[in-house]
Amino acid sequence: MIKEKLTEIHSQLSDGVTLVAVSKTKPNEAVMEAYESGQRVFGENKVQELVGKAEALPKDIQWHLIGHLQRNKVKYIAPFVSMIHSVDSFRLLKEINKQALKNDRVIDCLLQFHIADEETKFGLDLSEAREILESNEFQELNNVRICGVMGMATFTDDEGHVRKEFRKLKSIFDILKSEYFESEDRFKEISMGMSGDWKLAISEGSTMVRIGSSIFGSR
Ligand SMILES: *Cc1c(COP(=O)(O)O)cnc(C)c1O
Repeated sequence: MIKEKLTEIHSQLSDGVTLVAVSKTKPNEAVMEAYESGQRVFGENKVQELVGKAEALPKDIQWHLIGHLQRNKVKYIAPFVSMIHSVDSFRLLKEINKQALKNDRVIDCLLQFHIADEETKFGLDLSEAREILESNEFQELNNVRICGVMGMATFTDDEGHVRKEFRKLKSIFDILKSEYFESEDRFKEISMGMSGDWKLAISEGSTMVRIGSSIFGSR
């Protein structure tokens, strides 16, 4: 079943769009089923669950942390995490840099933006991001690599509304790219789109979709 779902999604993904299979709350067996059909990029939203799965499962899996991250937990994932989508403060970014340095690594990060109506969704706004990127302190963070932006749209059936939020994230990406990352190829990711809205997200420029329930079933 998982294999069929993955095949179906892959057949509809545009070239250059990465599928992050969101395996949160699902058992290792489910991850292995996806792995055996070729999936290598997985997303988790909780540090403890991510660490447990990373220890138990094949070492060539690329683990992405997609949920809110507390600074005191960065140390647990710094040795192995492949990308952190949820950088929503300068203090967190500095902690990621510190732990990456300890592990002699450079950790790929996305800046998370608040694009939804819901108060509960974490994220920066454009001025906060500029403040980070313009600071001298940021220039000295050699163990993090900002690879793009991430956002979550409002949970609603109103497609026009969701489209507007995706456009907002795309425009934030374009602005940051032109102001700070023009000459840097690595700043290229727009992580947006989940089970309910990934096709819409791709039509608005997503390069990474984070899909859980459409692959693994409802939680
Ligand atoms: C759970 C989660 C997803 C996947 O959600 P589905 O609707 O199951 O596809 C994507 N992004 C984040 C940040 C999540 O927490």
